[in-house]
Amino acid sequence: MQPVIETIFLRQMASGDRLSLQVYKFIGAHPGKKVYIQSNLHGAEIAGNAVIHQIIEFLLLLKDTNLVGEIWLVPVCNPMGVNERSHHFSPGRYCVYEAKDWNRIFWDYEKEADDLVNFTQSQLHLDAEVVRENYLARIKQKFTKIIEKINSSAGLPYTEQFAYQLQSLSLDADYLIDLHSSTNQAINYLYYFQNREDSAKYFLLDYGILLYPYDGDAFDEAFIKPWLALEACFQQLGRNIKFDIEAWTLELGTGMQMNPDSVTKGILGIKNYLAQKGVLRIPEFPIAQTTDQQMTFSATSKVIKYYAIAGGMIQSRVQLGSKVKVKDRLYQILSFNKESQLPQVIDIFAEHDGIVYEISTNQAVNQGEFVLRIIQ
Ligand SMILES: [Zn+2]
Repeated sequence: MQPVIETIFLRQMASGDRLSLQVYKFIGAHPGKKVYIQSNLHGAEIAGNAVIHQIIEFLLLLKDTNLVGEIWLVPVCNPMGVNERSHHFSPGRYCVYEAKDWNRIFWDYEKEADDLVNFTQSQLHLDAEVVRENYLARIKQKFTKIIEKINSSAGLPYTEQFAYQLQSLSLDADYLIDLHSSTNQAINYLYYFQNREDSAKYFLLDYGILLYPYDGDAFDEAFIKPWLALEACFQQLGRNIKFDIEAWTLELGTGMQMNPDSVTKGILGIKNYLAQKGVLRIPEFPIAQTTDQQMTFSATSKVIKYYAIAGGMIQSRVQLGSKVKVKDRLYQILSFNKESQLPQVIDIFAEHDGIVYEISTNQAVNQGEFVLRIIQ
C-alpha cells in the first residue's frame, strides 16, 4: 500500500526560507476510522519519528485490504522546535518569540461552546453516530473562523497559525496519538483521559497517567475535551453515551535520544491498539496478552515533583524507574558555598512512596530547579 504524501506550507522565515509539514496518508480499502499520529511537537522529543518511520515501512508492506479506515502520519510536526539548538543541545519546548510551550497553544472548542446544554437537549434522542456528525459540524464551523483571521491583513501570531494547521489535519480524527518523550530522562508511559482505561491497556505499556484536571491547551486535550464535555452533558440530562473517540500522548523515554527500547515499545503498542480497534487487520495482532495486560494507573494529581532545596550538583541519585518508599534516600546535593565553609553533602529523602519515573538530565542545579518526579 502506498500513501498519499501531502506537503503543507507552514511559514515563511525572514530569510525567505519556507517551512512545511508533510503528512503521509494511508487509505484502506474499506471506509472506517481515521487515525492521526504525529511526533516531535516538542523539539527534543525525537523517538516518535523513528516510530512513525517504522510504521510507514510496515504499512508499505500491507495490502489496502489490511487497513479499515485511514491512518495519517506527521513526523517532525514542529519544524521550529525540531531545529532549535543551544550549543549541542535541543531545547525546543517553547516558542521563545511568544514565550509559549509548543504543547499549550491549541484551540479548544469547548471554551467557545456556550450553548452545549441546548445542543445536547436537541440531540437527546438521536443515534450516537448522528450526534457525532452534528457536533463535529459545529466544531468545524467555529474552527473555520480561525482561517479567516489568518488570511486577514491583521493576521495571527505564529503559534495560532501553527496550531490551526495541526488541528486542521486532526480535528475529524477518531483516534489521535501524539508521540512525545521526556524533555529530560523518563520511562515509557502514556497519558490518558477519563473512562479510557480499557483502551489504554492496548498500548502494552506498564504505566498510564490520567490527565485530570486539564485546561484544554495541549494537543491531546484540545482534541478530546469537547467530546468529554458532551458526554458529561448527556450524563447530566440522563443519557449515557460514550463516543469512540480517543486521544493519547505516548511518552517514549528520554529526550534527544532514539532509545531503541522506547521505539520498539511505541511501535508494538500502536500496532496492537490499531488491531484492537479494528483499523489494522494483521496476523498475530491483537496479541493475546492484551486482555491481562497489567498496567499501573495513576493521575497527574498524584505526580510529585522534587525541586533542589539548595544549589549544587546532584549525585547518588536512585535509578530511573526505581520504586521508592517514604524515607528512602532519593539523591544527594553536593553543595558549595562562599562562606569559608567546607563543601556540604545534603541527603534528600522521599516524602512519598512511588516510582521515580522522570529525572533531570542536568545534574547541576540552581536552588528550586527540577530534579525528579515520582508517581504515587
Ligand atoms: Zn513533550
